[in-house]
Amino acid sequence: MHYPWGHDRRFNAYSSYFKKLFGERVQKLSIDAGFSCPNRDGSKSTGGCTYCNNNAFNPSYCSPDKSVTLQIEEGISFHKKRYRRAGSYLAYFQAYSNTYSSLETLKKLYSEALVHPGIIGLIIGTRPDCIDKEKLEYLKELSESCYIAVEYGIESCYDITLRRINRGHSFREAEEAVRATSELGIKTGGHFIFGLPGETREEMLAEADIISRLPLDTVKFHQLQIIKGTRMEMEYKDNPADFSLFSWEEYLDFFVKFLERLNPGIVVERFTGEAPPRFLNASLWGKKRTDQIVGLIEKRLEELDTWQGRLYKP
Ligand code: SF4
Repeated sequence: MHYPWGHDRRFNAYSSYFKKLFGERVQKLSIDAGFSCPNRDGSKSTGGCTYCNNNAFNPSYCSPDKSVTLQIEEGISFHKKRYRRAGSYLAYFQAYSNTYSSLETLKKLYSEALVHPGIIGLIIGTRPDCIDKEKLEYLKELSESCYIAVEYGIESCYDITLRRINRGHSFREAEEAVRATSELGIKTGGHFIFGLPGETREEMLAEADIISRLPLDTVKFHQLQIIKGTRMEMEYKDNPADFSLFSWEEYLDFFVKFLERLNPGIVVERFTGEAPPRFLNASLWGKKRTDQIVGLIEKRLEELDTWQGRLYKP
């Protein structure tokens, strides 16, 4: 079977996309450059998104007390020790909202990463309300000589959910940021969460059609994980019936159906988030690791003889 993405995996895989783009294995290095977030510093809100505990996502070598250069160097030696050798690296500005500062500050931090000889580009994680024309023009300029991707936390296509989780922006703002970024030829990514309170499985499935219409190059999906120390943890303890968390079997069924409806032109980077013990609902998933999960989802796609985009309606 020849799939539109040009290889025989049953979904448009990120690793293959990277190999095609760069011709070698490329590793991302997470950077915490000390940015803040308007949803935490009082500019939009002080509480943050109800599920957020940003510390939970930062690798140990990442700390804003260290310069970007030092974090890159430590990241490279961390990856060299643990994993297969990567040919080159992308600096992944991951913690908080990495365009939430003046253009001068962004230029200084991004340039520091780009002058490092191991770095061939940037991936910048941010919120849809932390970008503007000036910053995008600068990123467009950078993208003419190296790989630049902006990844937006979108989380849900429904405003009622976004309000409920205190995101502090609407879906329309997310859509506008995605379109403005993509129109300038900058690689554009989106992050979504499945299982947010108040959403039915049907509503989540219908998001495949909405996401398919966005000019996204890449997407990451996570099942909702309730993280200790968050506002959501309290809400969950007070009213567990309000949440409909995915068991692994349910997620497997759901995600295969979702992939079938998703635009085959969109590269899928993640199917799930990992569920280590710091997440309250980790027990629902056992000890599955991300690579195992990908294998199980691919196996199910094969058993059902289906693939990403099989039911996609342009
Ligand atoms: S936008 Fe990101 S960093 Fe800010 S509160 Fe929400 S999840 Fe946390």
